[in-house]
Amino acid sequence: MSAAVTSRLERCRGLLGGLGVDALLVSAAADVRYLSGFRGADATLLVGADFAFICTDARYWDQVREEVDGFALVEVRGELLDGSVGALRATGAKGRLGIQGAALSYASYRTVRRRYGGGLRDVGAAVTRLRAVKDADEIAVMRRAGRVTDEALAAVVAGGLVGRREMDVAWRLREEYQRLGAEGEAFPAIVAGGAHGAQAHAIPGERVIAAGELVVIDTGARVDGYCSDITRTFAAGQPTDELRRIYDVVLAAQLAGLAAVRAGAHGRDDVDAASRAVIDAAGHGARFGHGTGHGVGLEVHEAPGLGRTQGDTLAAGMVCTVEPGIYVEGLAGVRIEDTVLVTADGCERLTTATKELQVVD
Ligand code: ZN
Ligand code: ZN
Repeated sequence: MSAAVTSRLERCRGLLGGLGVDALLVSAAADVRYLSGFRGADATLLVGADFAFICTDARYWDQVREEVDGFALVEVRGELLDGSVGALRATGAKGRLGIQGAALSYASYRTVRRRYGGGLRDVGAAVTRLRAVKDADEIAVMRRAGRVTDEALAAVVAGGLVGRREMDVAWRLREEYQRLGAEGEAFPAIVAGGAHGAQAHAIPGERVIAAGELVVIDTGARVDGYCSDITRTFAAGQPTDELRRIYDVVLAAQLAGLAAVRAGAHGRDDVDAASRAVIDAAGHGARFGHGTGHGVGLEVHEAPGLGRTQGDTLAAGMVCTVEPGIYVEGLAGVRIEDTVLVTADGCERLTTATKELQVVD
C-alpha cells in the first residue's frame, strides 16, 4: 500500500470513535479518490476498524485493480449502494454506520436504510475535511495547475477581447488547457463583459465584447485531478474613470484579504473581514454579495470556508482563494481572484498573473 493511502486510511479510521460510528460509507467521489486513489465515477468505500472495501461495478474492475491498493475489491452487480451495504452486512457488521448525507440522494438514503439493519448517522463533512490540508505531492500538483492556468489565460487574452463572443473566449481557454497538458478545465469558465459581468456567475454566451467594457474571466485548469481557480478583470479598450475606480477598490480589497491569510487566521473573521472592510469603506458593501473565498483541491469548492456567514481557522498546507468583487447592475462587474497556499506566516500565490488593470483591444 502506498504511504499516502496508508496514512489517509488511518486518518479516516481515526474518525470512527469521535463520530460515534462503527464504520463509514464514503460515497462522495472526491473523498473516494482521495482515500483510495480510484479516479472512476461510481464507487463507494466502506471503512471500519479492521476492514477497508472499495465497491464498484464491472465497468471499473480493471481500472480499480490498476489504481487502488490497500482496499479489498467488492464487485457489485446491480445498484451500487445496495450492493455496498449488502457487502457490509455480509461481514456481520451491525453497529452504527456513518453516511455522507450531502453525497446521498434521498432515494439512495432510503436504499441504505432499507438494506442496512443497524443505525445510521450523517457524519457531515468529517471525511471531506481530511482533504483540507494538502501534502507535498498535492501542493506540487496544485502549483502546476496554477502555472497552467496563468499561462492559458495570458495566451487567450493576448489574442484580444474586443469583437469576440464570450463563448469563444471560454472555448479558447479549454483549448489552451489541453495544449498545456492539463486534463481540462476545473469548472466551466465565466467570461462576462459589460453589464453581463454584474452577474457573479454569468454563463458566457453569444454576446460580443465591445470596446469600453470590463470583462470578468474566471477560470481554472484541472491537473491530475486538482483544481486551480483564478479571476482577472480586463478592460476591453480604455475604461472610464468610474470603472477604473471600482477596479482599484476591488484590487485593494483583494490585497487586504491576501495579507490576512496565514496559518491561525480565521476565514470569516480575518480574511473575509479584511476584504469586506475595504469594499464597505468605499461605499460598495451592498454590491459584494458573495464570500471572499473557498478552499480548493480535488473539488473547486471545498473546505476551508472564507465567507461572511461561515469560516474556518486556516492551517498551513490549506489551499484557498481570495476573490472579492463589486457588481454594479446594468454597468459592470469586477472580481479579482487568486488561489493561494496557506503558510505559517502568510501565503504563497499559486496563480501569479499580474493584477494591474490590463487594457486589451
Ligand atoms: Zn473562480
Ligand atoms: Zn473561486
